[in-house]
Amino acid sequence: MKLIFERSVPGRCSRLIPELDVPCVPPDFCLREKPPRLPELSESQVDRHFTELAKETRGVNGGFYPLGSCTMKYNPAVLEAAASLPGFTDIHPLQPDETVQGCLEVMERTEKYLCEITGMDAMTLQPAAGAHGEFTGLLLIKAYHLSRGDTERRKIIVPDSAHGTNPASAAMAGFEVVNIPSDAKGYVDLDALRAAAGPDTAGLMLTNPNTVGLFDPNIQEITRIVHDAGGLNYYDGANLNAVMGIARPGDMGFDVVHINLHKTFATPHGGGGPGSGPSGCKAFLKDFLPGLRVQKTADALRSAPAEKRIGDVRSFCGNFLVTVKALAYLLSIGREGVPETAANAVLNANYLMNRLKDLYTMAYDATCMHEFVMTLEPLHHEIGVSAMDIAKALIDYGIHPPTMYFPLIVHEALMVEPTETETVETLDEAAAIFRQVWEDAHADPSHMHERPFTTRIRRPDEVKAARKPVIRYDFEA
Ligand SMILES: *Cc1c(COP(=O)(O)O)cnc(C)c1O
Repeated sequence: MKLIFERSVPGRCSRLIPELDVPCVPPDFCLREKPPRLPELSESQVDRHFTELAKETRGVNGGFYPLGSCTMKYNPAVLEAAASLPGFTDIHPLQPDETVQGCLEVMERTEKYLCEITGMDAMTLQPAAGAHGEFTGLLLIKAYHLSRGDTERRKIIVPDSAHGTNPASAAMAGFEVVNIPSDAKGYVDLDALRAAAGPDTAGLMLTNPNTVGLFDPNIQEITRIVHDAGGLNYYDGANLNAVMGIARPGDMGFDVVHINLHKTFATPHGGGGPGSGPSGCKAFLKDFLPGLRVQKTADALRSAPAEKRIGDVRSFCGNFLVTVKALAYLLSIGREGVPETAANAVLNANYLMNRLKDLYTMAYDATCMHEFVMTLEPLHHEIGVSAMDIAKALIDYGIHPPTMYFPLIVHEALMVEPTETETVETLDEAAAIFRQVWEDAHADPSHMHERPFTTRIRRPDEVKAARKPVIRYDFEA
């Protein structure tokens, strides 16, 4: 594919902007020393350039995208229409409350519904991502202990089946991280938890369903152990797609939770945002919440910061238009749609897992939640074909690879999350492709290391691509 700079011809342009009819006098200090080197092309060339780029991009609208731990579900385009309404887009965050009553109502209702779904009493919509919501929730826990003069609680317990952001957020919030192992079934090791919990415990962070796609059956015992030790319980609810409307963190003994609107509540995920990771808490923590608290008074909605707030974690009300999409989504699926979504997400994952488990080795032999983890270790051992090779081969058949080499506690892991928005036919096609790839691998293992064959770049140096991406055109080269 030719780059836009390579197609450029000096003097070529699309004249859509009329000639300037006033004198051009920019202030001297604004003038560039040299004019910018912009590509010069006709309008149709520009259009084709971006269309070609879009075709190179794999998205949910282009095919099956079972990227585990990411909930890459289809998000109805109509929600974008709701978020584009001028009443939502043409406002200023410093406008007086009486001029933005509709927007305050969006916030108030979204918070209320999300509290109802999670079993929390209050929520802030300010955090911009899941990890940011974790950080915010941990600051609530810290503020709580400090407000009671309990200064020795410096440790956060994190099971090894937690999402990688959990220990990172705890460290960012100034806690010491205590890792505890999972047992052979993939659940929290209760004896290890009992041994770790004590007077220095600030809290526990639990990802549930955890990163191996399992719901911990001892969850109430887990939260009891931590509460008995004087700590608080944090629920990483980024995987809420599996349980929403069916089970509530607030009923399982959790004090703080974050959820990812850009996974579960209909904002597309990926590409760097904007996202939203609301943090919810029980009533005894609500005065610490950051951002504006929206209150219903007799005649209007009013916004004001909470009394003992931890300070803002982002400007104003966070990514407000993501909130609009979440509310529009909730209203469109309704009370019944919330648990139905979760049930179908779990059904789809179990369906696909059962279509594959005679060939592929599942890391844990259990009913999964919204995703399942397979281990390619036996295959790798037997014929030298790795999880990476299988993932790359799937690309050739039009499937976006599952999450690879995560969670870390499973070797040669592939983590598959179909989501509820896929039909049974799509799942059958996907199963057939996974099985075909298995056959390909056995027919010619060495061939698998060369895949994919259908992409422009086959096996980039992934570390280099992430750390030193070349995103500028080098005119000198
Ligand atoms: C995605 C995810 C996160 C982090 O969310 P970001 O928005 O990427 O920061 C945290 N925990 C779990 C379980 C997740 O799946």
